Amino acid sequence: MHSLLVMASAASVALAAAAAGNAPHWSYEGEGAPDHWMKLSSDFVTCGAGKMQSPIDLQAVNARGATVVATNYQTSPLTVLNNGHTVQANFAAGSKLISGGREFGLVQVHFHTLSEHAVSGKRYPLEAHFVHADSAGKLAVLGIFFEEGAANAELSKLIAAAPKHKQDATPVAGVQFDPNGLLPPSLNVYRYMGSLTTPPCTEGVNWHVADKAITASKEQIAALHVIMGDNARPLQPANNRLIVGR
Ligand SMILES: [Zn+2]
Repeated sequence: MHSLLVMASAASVALAAAAAGNAPHWSYEGEGAPDHWMKLSSDFVTCGAGKMQSPIDLQAVNARGATVVATNYQTSPLTVLNNGHTVQANFAAGSKLISGGREFGLVQVHFHTLSEHAVSGKRYPLEAHFVHADSAGKLAVLGIFFEEGAANAELSKLIAAAPKHKQDATPVAGVQFDPNGLLPPSLNVYRYMGSLTTPPCTEGVNWHVADKAITASKEQIAALHVIMGDNARPLQPANNRLIVGR
């Protein structure tokens, strides 16, 4: 009788472990590191098998041309979250990215320290990703590099409200956030087709990365790094993709 009870409780522990295993834990170090993402779940196979993965080194420009890209971003009440991998602000409908005549609605912005994209091997200390989706669910992301310099006022609002640990989206009472404050004065971009830089690494993402960095203070960059840690995926092969630059 006693041994049956032991067996039963051992079985329930095993079941609990299996259930926990349904949500594979990916991260940026150890067992869950980017090199292992493809093995953590059958849903993550593209992370290893995909041929159009992000981020890449943007030095590999093989087409010249000015991509016509414009933003129409609006100030809205600040809502922040920490998903355990990044700090993110969500946006209400209404802000848009227009690229190649297509309209994508701004959904959220999140951050990576160091930057994920590189230019001639150089990575910046911080990169913002503005994630947009069109009516069919196609994604367009706008990457903005930050270099160390003057503090950024909008970033200060976000850092002050950023949850230190994993937390669902929370409205920040009385704070208006203007995403335009995280954009360079004129928007010229590298453009290429890539992927999400986190599992499941889905491809078909219209990438735009601004060719001019803006500044954040050393303290702001450090504050985000303290919360997020190292959350940049290593550079991926460009393969024979079209990378458009000016
Ligand atoms: Zn990102």
